Amino acid sequence: MSILVTGGAGFIGSNFVLEWLAHSDETIINLDKLTYAGNLQNLSSLEGDDRHIFVRGDIGDQNLVKDLLEKHQPRAIINFAAESHVDRSILGPDEFVQTNIVGTFRLLETVRSYWGNLTGEAKEDFRFLHVSTDEVYGTLTETEPGFTENHPYQPNSPYSASKAASDHLVRSYFHTYGLPVLTTNCSNNYGPYHFPEKLIPLIIHNALAGKQLPIYGDGQQVRDWLYVTDHCSAIRTVLSKGEPGETYNVGGWNEKPNLEVVQTLCSILDELQPSESGKPYSDQITYVKDRPGHDRRYAIDARKLQRELGWTPGETFETGIRKTVEWYLNNQDWVENVTSGNYRDWMEAQY
Ligand code: NAD
Repeated sequence: MSILVTGGAGFIGSNFVLEWLAHSDETIINLDKLTYAGNLQNLSSLEGDDRHIFVRGDIGDQNLVKDLLEKHQPRAIINFAAESHVDRSILGPDEFVQTNIVGTFRLLETVRSYWGNLTGEAKEDFRFLHVSTDEVYGTLTETEPGFTENHPYQPNSPYSASKAASDHLVRSYFHTYGLPVLTTNCSNNYGPYHFPEKLIPLIIHNALAGKQLPIYGDGQQVRDWLYVTDHCSAIRTVLSKGEPGETYNVGGWNEKPNLEVVQTLCSILDELQPSESGKPYSDQITYVKDRPGHDRRYAIDARKLQRELGWTPGETFETGIRKTVEWYLNNQDWVENVTSGNYRDWMEAQY
């Protein structure tokens, strides 16, 4: 038996692949385009493990995906592949429309045709799980309750709008064609292998490098944080027990203003690796102009996933954030390779 994972060289996808192979003997076919965000170094511990088959390619390449499906006959597909960085979507939305909307549509078309030719149990048990974000729901005021699965879609950035469009396409393939799809909408993830353009790894990296720690606006934008391996366990739960056609919100019940996240990182770093100057890392905090269309607050109500499928997160914010800082301190080579371009050079030589 096998599953096809797309985007499995990215932050969450690579954590998922590693976690999956630690829990199961099933083979993973990992289809990833290796954009700037894809990093095979995340999976270097799998070298020589024939349960992991890596294929470089685009989810929108219908001939390639068709061949992979026919050859490996996966029982499920988990779609992580996306352009995922909000700031990049503001600077250049094209790629977001291409991959997140057109790419997901082409993938759905190819999968629909594959699934249509399956018979019996293979057809009944097949699942297409689409990994999405809470950002599709837009923003909340301080007092509104967290997003439930019934909250209206109100995306405010080209990134969240493209993910919203992909969610709608996925939903329509269930209602129109009966394709057994599942969708997860998750809050902000953090943990190992996070590309250093995102808040938490950026702050750790800049703090250690003696650089400024940029805070957008007043730093009071609230996000709900989830340790990445908890997201992976939620996806495994939804894949095995979720009801086709349903969506499940995934969150950690950890609402934190960005400024508090940065201050927590500074104080853990002060304790584990004090700065050479002896000054607290929080002295490096600098307020910068707010991002356009910056949502004020996201909060996830994950009670459906807990009530119906029995999932709960394993980490609190306090345990997860400490693990994350420790991982970055112990894996400075990884950070150095990603930020210096060494990794890029190596990858170009491989593929
Ligand atoms: P990421 O940017 O780290 O990784 C995306 C991966 O997809 C990369 O390996 C990239 O090479 C690959 N990719 C991009 N375009 C592709 C294409 N056309 N074909 C094949 N592969 C392609 O993203 P991430 O943070 O790991 O997020 C993974 C998924 O989870 C995304 O769909 C994202 O919307 C969703 N999500 C992320 C978060 C978060 O906090 N990071 C939260 C909720 C949901």
